[in-house]
Amino acid sequence: MATETHTPKKTKKKLAIHWKILIGIGLGAAAGILLSRFIPYETWSPWIKWAGDMFLRALRMIVIPLVFTSIAMGVAGMGSSAALGRIAGKTIGYYVVTTLVAATIGLTLVNLVKPGVGAELNLTENVSTVGAVAGSAENVSFIDQIVHIVPANVFESGAKGDLLPIIFFAIIFGLFMNKVEKKHSDTLGGVLTAIYEVIMKITFAIIQLAPYGVFAIVATIVGKQAGDPAALWGMVKSLGVFVLVVWGGLLIQGGLILPLLVRVLGKQNPWKHMSKMSTALLTAFSTCSSGAALPINIRDSQEKCGVSQRIASFVLPLGSTINMNGTALYECVAAIFIAQAYGIELTLVQQIMIVFTALLAAIGTAGIPMAGMVMLAIVLGAVGLPLEGVGIVLAVEQFCDMPRTMINTYGDSCGAVIIAHSEGEQLTVND
Ligand code: ASP
Repeated sequence: MATETHTPKKTKKKLAIHWKILIGIGLGAAAGILLSRFIPYETWSPWIKWAGDMFLRALRMIVIPLVFTSIAMGVAGMGSSAALGRIAGKTIGYYVVTTLVAATIGLTLVNLVKPGVGAELNLTENVSTVGAVAGSAENVSFIDQIVHIVPANVFESGAKGDLLPIIFFAIIFGLFMNKVEKKHSDTLGGVLTAIYEVIMKITFAIIQLAPYGVFAIVATIVGKQAGDPAALWGMVKSLGVFVLVVWGGLLIQGGLILPLLVRVLGKQNPWKHMSKMSTALLTAFSTCSSGAALPINIRDSQEKCGVSQRIASFVLPLGSTINMNGTALYECVAAIFIAQAYGIELTLVQQIMIVFTALLAAIGTAGIPMAGMVMLAIVLGAVGLPLEGVGIVLAVEQFCDMPRTMINTYGDSCGAVIIAHSEGEQLTVND
């Protein structure tokens, strides 16, 4: 004991993980550019890409068990269905309102800046590939989407990484856990908690590998683009302003609106909150997957911000699937940009329709890379815009997907803090 109270000893300060991830991003970008300069992309990329793929797969590996156990446990732990109804109501209300705000910001900016007017858009060489993917999104009607929330086979949904049906099943499972004999619900509660704890430990181990995984992901992405400077420059010229409008909108949503909500509704210091969530945010940014960032989001919301397990394990998994502020904003900007580029005048009613379709498309978007761009086909279809437009924005998808995924994840974590505060929880964000 005495040894612990000794005079200050020099502890070697370990670099925080979010700094390591940032360094990974920086070094990855530099390596991608340098390597592509001297060696063909196809030759060097397989030697690096595998590390990124393994990291992403490891994160995805834990998502389904994590979502199921955390939601079932969260719902069962709410006790009364009144508490569940209240928290679910607040959560969905928060998600819908912030997503609509984000979409409206996108709509306003794109109308003010008009990046599509006069843009030279001869970048449609990829249309056929996207058309194939977009076509699949286009064929799914909204009624189908609602119907498919009920899983016909939970294992099939799990195998496909379809989270909404898993969430639905987990909610039902959690609700009915409280309706069986106490000895059974106690046993189930113990088992779910144990699985959840193990998954969290695995999450922690995977996070330690994040800097290396992120290095590999960023190096291959940047290297691919850097291999063809002429194409890159052409893209910057015609689509640069579009990307800037997307970034500007995301900056307003993520740097102004959401922090304001954390301050006013959550009564927390938004900058401290952002810094405590930086590992999750950087993971979202570099993996382009809010699903992949979910385990880290849950862990840090609880451990660093003091959100209870009850709230974090309900609000965050649901948010990572249905709450996509960044995606909704992107859909609006992209749809109107495409209309402008094709010289199509949209009425106010059509623009409002875009906002609401963007909300629905964002809800239906999976937390995986490029999903939002595929859903863009639905938004375009809703107001009769040409589907080939998806091919135009494909060229800059990477630059839009990274920040919008970060805002998607950030929106979820703000929701957790705000809802926890509204439930009277003592948070540790300001500590
Ligand atoms: N990549 C985004 C996410 O995972 C979804 C999207 O493509 O908009 O949140």
